[in-house]
Amino acid sequence: MNIPFLSFDFQHTPLREEILAAMAQVYDAQWYVLGQRVQEFEAAYGLFSGTSHCVGVANGLDALHLALRALGIGPGDEVLVPSNTYVATWLAVSHVGATPVPVEPNPCTYNLDPTQLEAAITGRTRAIMPVHLYGHACEMPAIMAVAQRHSLLVVEDNAQAQGATAYGRPTGSFGQANATSFYPGKNLGALGDAGAVTTNDETLAQELRRLRNYGSTQKYYNEVIGYNSRLDELQAAVLLVKLRYLQQWTQQRQQIAAWYQQQLAGISGLQLPQTSAGSTHVYHLFVIRTTQRDALQQHLAAEGIATLIHYPVPPHLQHAYQHLGYQQGSLPVAEELAATCLSLPLWPGMTEEHVSIVAAAIATFFA
Ligand SMILES: *Cc1c(COP(=O)(O)O)cnc(C)c1O
Repeated sequence: MNIPFLSFDFQHTPLREEILAAMAQVYDAQWYVLGQRVQEFEAAYGLFSGTSHCVGVANGLDALHLALRALGIGPGDEVLVPSNTYVATWLAVSHVGATPVPVEPNPCTYNLDPTQLEAAITGRTRAIMPVHLYGHACEMPAIMAVAQRHSLLVVEDNAQAQGATAYGRPTGSFGQANATSFYPGKNLGALGDAGAVTTNDETLAQELRRLRNYGSTQKYYNEVIGYNSRLDELQAAVLLVKLRYLQQWTQQRQQIAAWYQQQLAGISGLQLPQTSAGSTHVYHLFVIRTTQRDALQQHLAAEGIATLIHYPVPPHLQHAYQHLGYQQGSLPVAEELAATCLSLPLWPGMTEEHVSIVAAAIATFFA
């Protein structure tokens, strides 16, 4: 049996009529940008995130970028970022003219290590960007305590962790402004690009609404140099439907992860994902580690099992970041993760039988 890395069948087939009807309503309403569906989705997603405001934008990178810009971070500033994140976290910092300063993760949880933050703080540090990598909530109370001690802002990158919690509180509700992405493959995915910023700060929310809409609050009057980065009305209509099912899909992801944990336990040479005390994991990705990663990936591919690597090259070794002067060996934990991580198939609708096939193929490889 072939097992794809990701399949939308289980999520999208039963919702086909419901989603197409929601799209038809937008079609008929003839109001295609910043209409009623965007407003409704912002209210619903703010509630879901435990924040009083949500501002829909065009994608996750814009959400990160506009959050930093609304907070006044710019040239000369430094922002602490994980060394092992998706490059978008770093790009947002670069887009406001600030400098990303990498901090190594805890090699067991893959998330920012709160005890390593302080050593990276300088007189120019303005903010910390925790990334809830793979769907696993960071140790937010410890990170917030460091931020408070040094008067730093916090912008969570919640692109992979919609629905996760840290000490009972939703990710995306801790920082002054927090970004998420509704890229199709994310836990809550649109049918195209989409993103949002969540915040409890009314003034910041107003600034974000202005920035996403040409820097204008009154049509044809531009108070600041803004952007065109609005959440699309059609995508908002789709997301409103899908948000109602997110909790159910998250529970399925967690069940699939539990099956993997059971069936892969005790294989020597294989490291399984761990969850920090106080955090929940919504398994955007189920990432294992082994020094024989490439051979394992080939073995699984030969068995018809698709896997991916998140991510093969850490941001500091990307050509785009050459100017920062990092080299191979500069950030050994991120480099080790990039060399050893492998993401297994995980999508709502995967059955225990699917998991058993993947687990058996992995066990055979290590036998
Ligand atoms: C997907 C992702 C982003 C960017 O989101 P887009 O909507 O693709 O721009 C940012 N950060 C992380 C951690 C992501 O996984």
